[in-house]
Amino acid sequence: MFISFKLNRTVVILCTVFILLSFYIVGFVRNTSIKTTGTSKQSDTSTTQSDAKKNYIKWVDFKVTDTAMRKAMKVDIESKDSSNHIDWIDLLSILAVKYGGDFSRFKEADLTALVKRIKDGEKIEDITRDMKYYSYYREAYGAVLGAYIGEYEIEEASKDSEKTATVKKYGLKAFSPIAKDYGYSHSDDFGNSRSYGFKRKHLGHDMMGNVGTPVIAIESGTVEALGWNQYGGWRIGIRSFDRKRYYYYAHLRKGHPYPDDLSIGHTVKAGDVIGYLGMTGYSSKEDTNNIEIPHLHMGIQLIFDESQKEGNNEIWIDCYEIAKFLRQNTSAVVKDELTGEFRRKYEFMEASTENME
Ligand SMILES: [Zn+2]
Repeated sequence: MFISFKLNRTVVILCTVFILLSFYIVGFVRNTSIKTTGTSKQSDTSTTQSDAKKNYIKWVDFKVTDTAMRKAMKVDIESKDSSNHIDWIDLLSILAVKYGGDFSRFKEADLTALVKRIKDGEKIEDITRDMKYYSYYREAYGAVLGAYIGEYEIEEASKDSEKTATVKKYGLKAFSPIAKDYGYSHSDDFGNSRSYGFKRKHLGHDMMGNVGTPVIAIESGTVEALGWNQYGGWRIGIRSFDRKRYYYYAHLRKGHPYPDDLSIGHTVKAGDVIGYLGMTGYSSKEDTNNIEIPHLHMGIQLIFDESQKEGNNEIWIDCYEIAKFLRQNTSAVVKDELTGEFRRKYEFMEASTENME
């Protein structure tokens, strides 16, 4: 009697746990299947195990403006040493819910009001509790901007001597892809149609400048691709250490597209010289200039699941606003007169690159 009661009780508890778990999984998949599909809504919300496994973000429209990023970053940096450090990505993700992701609607007053609520003691968890899309934006924006702000060390020139000193900082540690003091022009050209080979959309951002302009690594990472590509010409692809971002730099200079010591598997630091602006590409013949206007094509691809790396499910984001945002942090370069190669002027170190040679 006692044993059967105990057994029954165990069965009841197990069943309850199972049912609750099922509801949780159903709810989770439902929630995220809407969030993760963006424009194409999934109608199938059945919950097989393989569905649950494929539960990652499928699409991102990155429409955060340079202005919004700068203002949110300022709050983050200024609150760094306070007892209530406010994360800029939390701020942008909450505002994204309000704007449906469209930051042309951004008003500074909205940011100010949000910051006041947090400073007055409201927790991010409480503010976002009923925001259906918050977790989607937080994950998507975290994937784009997650490594842009943080602690780093950089050399600086001292005021009254030729010597440099290493300074610890907290702030923007991603760099503009065009070296300091080199001019360029650009406009929002993402999604424009291209007609070489077959009709394709432009999945990146073009920065027009002079041939030979040093091209800079936006973020630290590992060289994943390097060499000739029919469309991109001489190109280099760098994967972030967290593997969520793939940076593509294309149309590099004919003859000498990148420093000799770069190769696949090599790690680079944010701010390093990784190549030279050129006009190669649109040809199956290697080392051919077939681009009319010299420019750097930069592309940022997001990867939430390795199956998105290549094929029909690639996520390339509009990086015009990011390029504008990064303009405030340019890498100074010097030319080695012996080799003709350019290199960064000031050493840089962040936690992820500490053990690098
Ligand atoms: Zn381009």
